[in-house]
Amino acid sequence: MSALPIPADETQVSACICCGEAEWLPKFRVLRECKSCGFVRADMDLTHEQVRKLYQEDYFQGEEYGDYLADQESHRKNFAARLKTVQRIAGDIPSLFEIGCAYGFWLEQCQKAGIDCAGVDVCAEPVRHARMVMGQNAQLGDFLSIPLAKERYQAYCMWDTIEHLANPEHFISRVHGLLPDGGWLFLTTGDIGSLSASTRGPKWRMIHPPTHLQYFSTASMKRFLTRQGFEVVRSQSTPMHRNIGETVERVANLGKGAPKSVAKAIRRVMPRWLKKMGFWLDLGDIMFVAARKVK
Ligand SMILES: [Zn+2]
Repeated sequence: MSALPIPADETQVSACICCGEAEWLPKFRVLRECKSCGFVRADMDLTHEQVRKLYQEDYFQGEEYGDYLADQESHRKNFAARLKTVQRIAGDIPSLFEIGCAYGFWLEQCQKAGIDCAGVDVCAEPVRHARMVMGQNAQLGDFLSIPLAKERYQAYCMWDTIEHLANPEHFISRVHGLLPDGGWLFLTTGDIGSLSASTRGPKWRMIHPPTHLQYFSTASMKRFLTRQGFEVVRSQSTPMHRNIGETVERVANLGKGAPKSVAKAIRRVMPRWLKKMGFWLDLGDIMFVAARKVK
């Protein structure tokens, strides 16, 4: 028992976002697992502001993403395929808002398909690119504080974004408040319950706090979204189009153990033409989720 008083919002920060309980077990040294429901998160309590500071301009150009812009063709292929998946599930979507829109490659695909779309991101340089180069309706800001009219958009998207948030429940709750009944939420994130994640254990490529704070499985995602007033309509793994140079770069920067050393060696000798080639890859550890606001 601690004699120190615990601030009211600290107990709130450490409550499990999937079940509301607050008892955690250590996992892989840097993570913690909810004793009650098994949800996994980083073993650190960052504030919303601390998280925002992590995403300066170099975020998309070093550490986690290699050089995001150099890999434009892969982003276009990924998002074109994803839009088809979204339309297969939800039919034609008239309007859509993206949280974490980065350089605007998803918005570009949506605009091409005639969807009335806009997005927000906390990173300045990507937003500038989305606006000035891609001609997209992107704004610099924090989704939790920008003005948005209720029922203005029929769908919200968060691609590889939810794992970065200190308080995903605040984001999903706002999305719920803004959507009309039956409106859609689409997201992707790593799946810690996948075969690939369980095989790799602490070495799984997605484990890197403090940028990745939330580690959902399909089960915990369903529990979380249900608690937030959504019905999960589809949950499946999603293939990613990868550029060979970019993939090697990622493993060399973020990989662990032998793959990292091999990638560093390959990076030095790989010819330019090979770096530019691409391929589709489904490791089964990225989940795509489509959910609807419950009527
Ligand atoms: Zn829990």
